[in-house]
Amino acid sequence: MRPIGVFGGTFDPIHYGHLRSAFEILQALRFDEVRFIPCGDPPHRGNTVADAGLRYRMVSAAIAGQDGFVSDDRELRRKGLSYSIDTLNSLRAEFPDRSLGLIVGMDAFLDLPEWHRWDEILNVAHIIVAHRPGWKAPDRGPLGSLIAEHGTHQVDDLHQAMCGRIHIHAVTQLEIASTEIRELVAAGRDPRFLMPDAVRDVIKETGIYMSELHE
Ligand code: ATP
Repeated sequence: MRPIGVFGGTFDPIHYGHLRSAFEILQALRFDEVRFIPCGDPPHRGNTVADAGLRYRMVSAAIAGQDGFVSDDRELRRKGLSYSIDTLNSLRAEFPDRSLGLIVGMDAFLDLPEWHRWDEILNVAHIIVAHRPGWKAPDRGPLGSLIAEHGTHQVDDLHQAMCGRIHIHAVTQLEIASTEIRELVAAGRDPRFLMPDAVRDVIKETGIYMSELHE
């Protein structure tokens, strides 16, 4: 059984930067699927603009029809703060025999030591770091030690063990950020070509992000 990719985020809104990274990882690492998991109530940042239900709706619209892409609403159904370790434990309970790969962007990986119970994550899943070509992995500090101990360049290692490895994978870097999309929409501009048309349609239909009062 091939690994399951776990891609969490606020996805406020989801865009092609997220989608292209996830697709390249799905293909290059021969994952069975990538699960997009919008957070409910994010611990690391202020309130999101779109509520969790609407962010989940945009994620589902974005991935519709793509084999291997799955939207997962478990963080919306959980009460209280969303922590990655809880999500991974819940996936582990559901898929006891599967390899799990937590997909994080470079920015998120560099913040890892701030995450709640971060030192437990590798007991449950691998960590897949999507990074821009040419970026050098940290070689000192807690993340440097973690990579020295757990890093692997071998995709097969991610298939053979269910957890415990760190794999740094170069993806095409699309300099798109949800924050900029929200600002652009609030300024009355069109987010077309930054995201699938189906997501843009939801933004147009609901009027989300259109008022700067949301920010
Ligand atoms: P915001 O601008 O609101 O902070 P964001 O665009 O960074 O949002 P998030 O939902 O916070 O999106 O990110 C979810 C995950 O996607 C994180 O692991 C982040 O590193 C990664 N990510 C965000 N933008 C990109 C991008 N352009 N390319 C690749 N990965 C990205």
